[in-house]
Amino acid sequence: MDRRLVVLAALALAACSKGDAPAGQASAATTSTRDSSGGAVSISAASNTGAATAGGAAAGNAEAGGGLPANQTGKIPVLEYHVIGGEKNGLYSRTVASYRNDLEEAYKLGYRPITVAQMLDKDFKNVPAGMSPVVVVFDDASDSQFRYLEQGGKLVVDPTSGLGIWEEFARTHPGWKGGAVFCMLNGGAAGHNFFGDNPKFNGQKREWRFPKVKYLADQGHELCDHTLWHAKLSQYPDNVVQEQIARNAMGIDSAVPGYKIRTMALPYGLWPKNRPLAWQGSWTDPKTGQAHPYKFDAVLEVAGGPNESPYDPKFDPHSINRIEAIGDDIVKQLRRLSDTKTRFVVGK
Ligand SMILES: [Zn+2]
Repeated sequence: MDRRLVVLAALALAACSKGDAPAGQASAATTSTRDSSGGAVSISAASNTGAATAGGAAAGNAEAGGGLPANQTGKIPVLEYHVIGGEKNGLYSRTVASYRNDLEEAYKLGYRPITVAQMLDKDFKNVPAGMSPVVVVFDDASDSQFRYLEQGGKLVVDPTSGLGIWEEFARTHPGWKGGAVFCMLNGGAAGHNFFGDNPKFNGQKREWRFPKVKYLADQGHELCDHTLWHAKLSQYPDNVVQEQIARNAMGIDSAVPGYKIRTMALPYGLWPKNRPLAWQGSWTDPKTGQAHPYKFDAVLEVAGGPNESPYDPKFDPHSINRIEAIGDDIVKQLRRLSDTKTRFVVGK
């Protein structure tokens, strides 16, 4: 990476953490739709709990929030997290308590996690009949999402990191079996480089980066391309757009050789001028002369609310909407999907 790119990378990340104009606009758009719920929240989904339990369903199906009638054309919420931690919730950070609360609410309402790849494949095997899928996405690959601790010569997942909390949640909540989606940077500034590349980021080591990415894949989480250093793809010529995406895919391939990346997330939700380059293109490394093509099935937007079902004719895998973890948005959206009976529910 030349000096100019390093400077740009630093600027890009600085902009991300401050919530610059494009990201701000995107979240403003969400605000206008999400506020229509007006905070009027009922507990209709929770009231189904008794029915499911009384029905004597198998243990996996008798959990809270289940027992709903099938609805294959209902909406699927795709949640979007950035930094996990800190004292206060912000545009790009979620406290541990709020993150835990989101997961707890989703669980109580009868949501179970699937990946974007599973949504594309209509693979709902991790979601019992009468319950609903939810996709949980972590963007930007900070150490707050996945930290290692060295204990007795072994590496363990920090239980206070986003992944550590996820794993504890899965252990303590029967039926929470599916994976999350990690949309990663491999050359971002400020440690946004496969979850921290320097001890100054909470003791993380450079040599742990690839093992972390491999661990995620081994645990059933989906690996997703989020560009090399969070470039605003709308501002660059085609060759830079393709370099940003291809070099991130190359980084993921270095960590997990042969991994088939299905999904990419647009930094700031900004599309390249040549839109299809978001999901298909190629970059030729000038040093080796080797071409590095990429082709994804799904592109994630930064906002937009719950997404269409893959059974809905309007489903567009190249434009999947998400719900940002801002304020109470996630809980409100999940409850509204229940109250309006517009959530996807797996059938028998
Ligand atoms: Zn991002």
